[in-house]
Amino acid sequence: MDLNLTRKWRSRTFDGIVGQSLVVRMLKNSLYRDKYFPVYLFSGQRGCGKTTTARIFAAAVNCEQLPQFQKDPKAISVPCLVCQSCKALFEMNHPDFIEIDAASHTGVDNVRQIIEAASLMPVLGRKKIYLIDEAHMLSKAAFNAFLKILEEPPLSVLFILATTDPHKIIDTVRSRCFQIFFQPISVPEVAAHLQELCTKESIAYEAAALSTIAANTQGSARDAINLLERVRFAYQTVTQQAVLQVLGYIDDEHLMKLIEYIIDGNVAHVLSWFEYNKIDQHSASTVWDSFIELVRAVVWAKHGKIIERYKSYEDQLARLANRCTTAQLTRILQIFYDHELLFHKTTAQHRLLETIMISLCEKHDSSHSVLESKSTSSSKPLVQHKHISTSPVLQEVKSDDRWSMAVNSIEKLDDPLVNSLFKQGRFIRFDEQTKIVEVAFGKDFIFFQDWFATTQKLWQPLLDEHFNVAVQFTPQFIDEPSASVVSPVAAPKPVAVTPPIHVQKSNPQPQPALKKTPAAPEFKNYSYEKKQSKPVAPIKRFDVSDKDKWKKAHLVLQIFPGIISEVQQ
Ligand SMILES: [Zn+2]
Repeated sequence: MDLNLTRKWRSRTFDGIVGQSLVVRMLKNSLYRDKYFPVYLFSGQRGCGKTTTARIFAAAVNCEQLPQFQKDPKAISVPCLVCQSCKALFEMNHPDFIEIDAASHTGVDNVRQIIEAASLMPVLGRKKIYLIDEAHMLSKAAFNAFLKILEEPPLSVLFILATTDPHKIIDTVRSRCFQIFFQPISVPEVAAHLQELCTKESIAYEAAALSTIAANTQGSARDAINLLERVRFAYQTVTQQAVLQVLGYIDDEHLMKLIEYIIDGNVAHVLSWFEYNKIDQHSASTVWDSFIELVRAVVWAKHGKIIERYKSYEDQLARLANRCTTAQLTRILQIFYDHELLFHKTTAQHRLLETIMISLCEKHDSSHSVLESKSTSSSKPLVQHKHISTSPVLQEVKSDDRWSMAVNSIEKLDDPLVNSLFKQGRFIRFDEQTKIVEVAFGKDFIFFQDWFATTQKLWQPLLDEHFNVAVQFTPQFIDEPSASVVSPVAAPKPVAVTPPIHVQKSNPQPQPALKKTPAAPEFKNYSYEKKQSKPVAPIKRFDVSDKDKWKKAHLVLQIFPGIISEVQQ
């Protein structure tokens, strides 16, 4: 197989140009009527056929068969590809066809050379044709020099300017051009072209794979062929699976498994999934987008509709849809949309992805969406603050409540991993003497011990606040299933004051997780010393959960994730 399919498949005839029928019709008409504009401006996105079309047009203008074509366009086609002029042009040694890459010839001197040469008569053909590719790259001085020749172009000269950015070409030049727009080539047209190419090159393929290539190259036939070539280079047959691999996608079936684990709330399986699929080797953005698309497909399936792209997975989608509620699915989407800004800003995209997937495993009351569950948590308080008893037994219960309240506050930090980690903890005891808070976690959570340390400044003030003292948090990683002991607690009432609002920026970006290390016994009593023993003033926070009431606050929080600590009159 010829390794450079793009070059091999570059069309040399108007009929071979993909997806530009209107452009072809205009240029053929021009040839048929023997009417030409002195300057053409071909504009359109990369890979849509501007340069190819310009060369074919140039060949046709100088083709020896042109007079025959003008007599009978149905019998003869131009360029003929066999006459001396055509051969010279496609061998790139035609004396009258000058192709200039403006990206590397931006200066005014280059344009002066063109102007001088343009006054000479053509040697082999009817016209001297200049193709100036990437014309928007010419300097302003070069454009101005060029303008002189455009004002009075010699009859024997024809200019074709090709550009992806027509607005960058100065108005005085642009207004003298006959502008032709090249549309992006449609997905079915690119796919059909690839199919023809595969058949002629004896490349085995799956139709779905070619559609995927076309859909991922945004209307550029050249990019599509390049991608096909890359797939072909690595695999015998161009299958959907192979294309997705080359594009860095995760197979849809694997993604469905991930959704299944999340619905089951199985963190261990989610982590194994990340390990098995070597997520670090895939583009995080691609995984992010494909996951959202697939969850959306499950929502559709839930309502008896199948998105075209997932037609072949109809049964699996239906099964998945039966296993979860719409609220569960919208909660997943909501969490993804909530973290979109952070995802695009962070350099640790893979880690954030993992964190979000873990936090999605938390068991939520499936009858409530995220928004609903947030509002219900601020309704009736289940734990009363003021109820203080001196009985040792009740004291124990009290600490348990304090822990629950602290966990609830941590949830409001909007840091999914910290939130998720603390929810998995089971409160053991609080020692009044040593101020040690002991909390049990499943053995698997030893992988996250570094996270406790790196995020300490987020959660420590909240623990101190709820235990009314500077506590020493001591997680115990023991071999037992972790249980969520969180009970909903009343949020403080919103303070009715007016903006301006000051935002105290917290640390919204989770630190990348360190490499997993096997559980070792010495970690059992791992604890975090407080740097200062004096009790810290609790962070002030205003409840702005009512989005209608605190519009500006929500706007500010979207840009500066953090907590609102002060609201001025
Ligand atoms: Zn010819």
